[in-house]
Amino acid sequence: MPAATMEQVVNLCKRRGFVFPGSEIYGGLGASLDYGPLGVELKRNVKDAWWRAVVTRRDDVVGLDAAIIMHPRVWEASGHVSGFTDPLVDCKSCKQRFRADHVQGGVCPECGGELTEARQFNLMFKTYVGPVEDTAHVAHLRPETAQGTFVNFRNVLETSRLKLPFGIAQVGRSFRNEITPGNFLFRTREFEQMELEYFVRPGEDDKWFDHWRAERMRWYLDLGIARERLRERPHGADELAHYAKGCVDIEYQFPFGWAELEGIANRTDFDLRRHSEHSGKDLTYFDEERRERFLPYVIEPAAGADRSLLAFLVDAYSEEEVEGEARTVLRLHPQLAPCKAAVFPLLRKDGQPERAHAIYDDLRRHFSADYDQAGSIGRRYRRQDEVGTPFGITVDHDTMRDGTVTLRERDSMAQIRIPADRLIEELRGRISGPQG
Ligand code: ATP
Repeated sequence: MPAATMEQVVNLCKRRGFVFPGSEIYGGLGASLDYGPLGVELKRNVKDAWWRAVVTRRDDVVGLDAAIIMHPRVWEASGHVSGFTDPLVDCKSCKQRFRADHVQGGVCPECGGELTEARQFNLMFKTYVGPVEDTAHVAHLRPETAQGTFVNFRNVLETSRLKLPFGIAQVGRSFRNEITPGNFLFRTREFEQMELEYFVRPGEDDKWFDHWRAERMRWYLDLGIARERLRERPHGADELAHYAKGCVDIEYQFPFGWAELEGIANRTDFDLRRHSEHSGKDLTYFDEERRERFLPYVIEPAAGADRSLLAFLVDAYSEEEVEGEARTVLRLHPQLAPCKAAVFPLLRKDGQPERAHAIYDDLRRHFSADYDQAGSIGRRYRRQDEVGTPFGITVDHDTMRDGTVTLRERDSMAQIRIPADRLIEELRGRISGPQG
């Protein structure tokens, strides 16, 4: 069972400022979405969690941030100019276009009209570099971050002291002129990827492929995705990219069905070999111990920041009834929650607002926090539950007397009293989980 409906999640995103329709005051632009104040925090947290797990915590992976517009020959070498295409069909009646492999039954999904034969449509966005708009100045916005990594392989190797196996990770925007974008954040034309290229000795590739499959599954599970809504789907021989020896998708059960969150591929030495041939530069690795020179193989876990964020939101969303009242709660992992704690004075008098504000100021030096003194305490809790704030801190009469506050946990709604000066330590412990 999917956790929530898309409508519930889309409504919440708009209502509470996670995600807005792009260019809304001009009527919007298809499949272009803007992250609002809470969404931007959530997305940063998703990317940070990935970076911590894939780069910071490991001693064999380093980071890179390559340019979005690259030399046109990169895309010839990578095969994107000739092969990064989707099959496109036109409806002969209503003239709409569709991705052939997304259409069922062979007729137009909009009007039932007859469709043309499929033809290949290149998904790369074109632009011009400099003031002259002619074919000599055509460039593309990158459709993946991976190629920026391959063309920097030698730079990283020469400037770091890494030895195989090692990885180079990137998080950044990619662009694809998708024929049929949709399902909210799932498929847009501009999105962020989180990609690792992990270089290994040929012959050790199967072992590392399995390693990264397990690591990447664990990442989603540790960050709270329900086990039953996550699965691995190995690619069949017919759908395997021409360069790949093996590929497994990690799929999530979205409300619209099972769909890819991340692909983990064994790309062999295809990319380094092609760039080496096209650039004329030596991209081999020299193994000092074995006195051997060879092109490493590459294992690539390629995830999407926006798609993961959507899965985390859908999975966390729940509506329930508490003591006869409806409560919407986002059970986001504390590390992903846009705001970690909200501070409330129970009353707007007796020095409670000042005391609560001082606690809020203190917390903000360590975590993203919020302060709210408007409305009943129940309503204030619910406002925070709905955006996934894991902890509520209430200042009341007793706080003024003995310095303790109430600490309420979002999911269980359990409350404990603790001294205000122990809050930071307590919250830090509770926020850092297995992916801490
Ligand atoms: P799909 O089959 O869904 O088009 P893909 O197999 O082409 O995806 P990859 O090239 O493997 O995707 O890209 C790696 C990851 O980048 C995907 O798993 C996904 O999370 C993300 N991604 C790719 N295309 C988009 C898009 N149009 N919008 C949002 N995220 C995307």
